[in-house]
Amino acid sequence: MLIHYAKFSNKCIFAFMNKIQIQQIHSLLDTPKKVVVVGHQNPDGDAIGSCLALAKTLKKLGHNAHVIMPNAHPKFLQWMPGSDEILHYEKDHKEIDALLAEVDIVFTLDFNSLSRIGGLQQPLEKLIEKEIPFIMIDHHQSPDDYALVTYSDTEMSSTAQMVYHFIETMDWLSLMDADIASCIYTGILTDTGSFKYRNTTATTHRVAAELLEAGAVNWNISNNLFDTNSEDRLKLLSTALGNLVVLKDYNAAYITLSQAELDAHHFQKGDTEGFVNYALSIENVNLALIFIENANEKIIKISLRSKGDFSVNELARDHFNGGGHNNAAGGRSTMSLEDTVAYFKKILEDYKKELTNE
Ligand code: 5GP
Ligand code: MN
Repeated sequence: MLIHYAKFSNKCIFAFMNKIQIQQIHSLLDTPKKVVVVGHQNPDGDAIGSCLALAKTLKKLGHNAHVIMPNAHPKFLQWMPGSDEILHYEKDHKEIDALLAEVDIVFTLDFNSLSRIGGLQQPLEKLIEKEIPFIMIDHHQSPDDYALVTYSDTEMSSTAQMVYHFIETMDWLSLMDADIASCIYTGILTDTGSFKYRNTTATTHRVAAELLEAGAVNWNISNNLFDTNSEDRLKLLSTALGNLVVLKDYNAAYITLSQAELDAHHFQKGDTEGFVNYALSIENVNLALIFIENANEKIIKISLRSKGDFSVNELARDHFNGGGHNNAAGGRSTMSLEDTVAYFKKILEDYKKELTNE
């Protein structure tokens, strides 16, 4: 069940084509309800921003809303209004189990498969068995079919932008305040690379303008997100760039970081955010990956980025147990760092034509 929107002239009026579904959500929420808003594993700015913005709006409507996530977010997102109230299943599982035992409605934001929520997968699957209504809002490709209402739009810059359109369509915009606007703005900013990526549209900018008028302080949010580097992080970046390998014949590049290298620079969650973009910024490079060892989870976490039509979503799905978008995706490998890189180089041969347009 997809909710669609329509565009009119130069102004985008977002309307659910299916009025029954809007009605369905309105009637689900017509009396105070117990709601949980769920974000994905290793939540990023879009996941946190979307969840906090929606939960705050629902609270203003009189609902009892909590944001829950599988694990904690990085320090550079801790300034976000309400982020200290997010419950993490890794440490708050008792509180979360208690909430889920009584929940009326579940929103899942910024992911589209329950395999993306770590330890929360099983408890949420149980809720589906109990026929608790789920509402999905997400912009990744190939959504799974677990929700009563699936609002899926892969053209959208961010789930945060979708939350804005959702609030607009539900006629809740009068509830917008500076905190909600800041959360949505953060999601848009992080997922568009500060309005640089191809997913940024005229509508994205119009929404951003509305958010500034509602009280989001753009320069302050950018400063909080991007100008809070630690010395350790910059030195880790130096190590990462030292490990950069450019595969000229394939228009590809990759970076590796071993657990020992992370440890040497006192790695904190979030420190490697954006490193892969340096590899992608090289002239003629159409595909860039970063392989990051995680000894604790016994995996190699992989971030994939591309320019143009090359789909890293498909590459991540086909080879690295992951997915995402055409130009930005993630995945993992259970092989060693060396074997993972060797495997990548082997399969790269199959993509040579596509990457080099030969
Ligand atoms: P990142 O490389 O920044 O972790 O993620 C890039 C994009 O891919 C994000 O939209 C993220 O949600 C998605 N993504 C990251 N890791 C995974 C994964 O393991 N599986 C899937 N399906 N998507 C992922
Ligand atoms: Mn997103």
